[in-house]
Amino acid sequence: MSETRHTKTLIIGSGPAGYTAGVYASRAMLNPILVQGIEPGGQLTTTTEVENWPGDTEVQGPDLMVRMEAHAKAMGCEIIGDIIVELDTESRPFVAKGDSGNTYTADSVILATGARAKWLGLDSEEKFKGFGVSACATCDGFFYRGQEIVVIGGGNTAVEEALFLTNFASKVTLIHRRDELRAEKILQDRLLKNPKIETLWFHELEEVVGEDNPLGVEAVRVKHTKTGEITEIPAKGVFVAIGHAPATELVKDKLELHNGGYVKVKPGTTETSVPGIFAAGDLTDHKYRQAVTSAGMGCMAALDAERWLAEQGDAAEPAPEAANEPESA
Ligand code: FAD
Ligand code: NAP
Repeated sequence: MSETRHTKTLIIGSGPAGYTAGVYASRAMLNPILVQGIEPGGQLTTTTEVENWPGDTEVQGPDLMVRMEAHAKAMGCEIIGDIIVELDTESRPFVAKGDSGNTYTADSVILATGARAKWLGLDSEEKFKGFGVSACATCDGFFYRGQEIVVIGGGNTAVEEALFLTNFASKVTLIHRRDELRAEKILQDRLLKNPKIETLWFHELEEVVGEDNPLGVEAVRVKHTKTGEITEIPAKGVFVAIGHAPATELVKDKLELHNGGYVKVKPGTTETSVPGIFAAGDLTDHKYRQAVTSAGMGCMAALDAERWLAEQGDAAEPAPEAANEPESA
């Protein structure tokens, strides 16, 4: 049966930003409710080693997120497995509808819905999604033992995925549209030294080629960005790693966005264009998009929410000397 729950602070999202907000909001006695969404633990659950989380020389992404969840819970945050499908930013309290049928009303909201993988938008990519085309090496790499694989992209994700896939594949070809990688230098170094990885510069994916029965990938057709020449490369797996888009579906017509769709926050704060709604993490951040920066913003959002709620409380209760004054016309 569906129910309505009220909280002082509703946290939407369970990545580093959401769980950190959960820790801080709990310690501020806001009795927060955190709704996890379709990907409990967020993007780090799709990777393996994380080497830049302070305090851990190396930690597995999924393990780190299990620890963050446990930490938020231990502080008193209520964690709910639901997906918010609608957020009313005009009503007070704010009203969020869950996919479960439950309704959440909240005096303040912390949005921490992060980002999702981008796709190239090719028909053949769509056709073979889940049948040879993937955006998650950690999830699907295991299926390509001893086979040839291509990875598309030139950022940290593409390079990490290419390196990770060498654990399974006989050969990995990294296909990038330029001849310069965005990835950190340490990752570039590992990539270029890896004998199983070949890099193909100035190329874009034109088409994924495969069989219909059973559905499966056999090759990719790539185009040289300067000469237009088409080449076919054998591959059983295609990993698209061309970045992520902020998950703004809930608020795209309701909050101010900028930088290609990221939620705009007042500089140095997590305040959005609607008072009482705060945003943290990759959802707001086109520049850094790291676990530690997202966690930092989660902390800021909880502190911002706490202060804002205190101000609302102060404003709602008239000062003693003003309480008996007649209302001015
Ligand atoms: P996310 O982690 O994206 O989490 C978003 C959360 O919002 C999810 O839990 C999702 O379920 C939830 N959500 C979305 N919509 C809804 C909804 N409607 N209702 C309820 N919940 C919703 N960073 C590093 O610092 N080090 C690394 O080594 C590193 N490796 C990475 C490897 C990969 C493959 C990827 C993809 C990213 C990596 N990053 C790394 C980046 C890092 O994962 C992100 O910066 C970080 O996870 C962002 O945290 P976040 O809390 O903003 O959002
Ligand atoms: P990204 O940094 O935005 O890189 C996307 C890459 O894909 C770029 O090289 C881009 O090419 C290419 N690309 C984009 N659209 C394309 C298209 N239509 N066709 C072909 N190529 C295309 O994304 P990311 O690698 O997913 O990283 C996202 C964020 O997470 C970054 O901030 C990153 O630092 C972080 N992250 C960190 C780690 C880590 O710290 N170890 C690991 C993974 C991710 P151009 O270069 O030509 O634009």
